[in-house]
Amino acid sequence: MGVGTDVHPFMSGRPLFLAGLEWPSEVGVSGHSDGDVAAHAACDALFSACALGDLGSQFGTSDPRWKGASGVALLTEAARRVREAGYEIGNIAIQIISNRPKFAPRRQEAEKVLSSAVDAPVSCSATTTDGLGLTGRGEGIAAIATALCVRVR
Ligand code: MG
Repeated sequence: MGVGTDVHPFMSGRPLFLAGLEWPSEVGVSGHSDGDVAAHAACDALFSACALGDLGSQFGTSDPRWKGASGVALLTEAARRVREAGYEIGNIAIQIISNRPKFAPRRQEAEKVLSSAVDAPVSCSATTTDGLGLTGRGEGIAAIATALCVRVR
């Protein structure tokens, strides 16, 4: 079992990418990548499950190959590295914590994109915090993910 968390602050003037989808007319988030907190949390959960470090150590910000890479591209590569290390992916569960965007209408679309990125089932849910904390104040988007991986060789 592995766990991953990510948070990015809202930043106007940037497109929003979340859970493998672009969200037109929503405010984006800052970050040197596309800021997809759901995809990033899922990457960290995969690395965590297999004791392969974390997003920062696997995709160093100094490595130009990953500069500006989409969250889906990072997640695809994370799954490849996990399998290369001898693991198979059981499933990944992601929960987005934010006031916006309204996630439910696009949940299945997001799950399809993320599942195909890792070639394993990915479920994605969303919640709010009743106005409390950084997401409740509308300062940014957070995500928490768990991953189940099994050593197969
Ligand atoms: Mg991130």
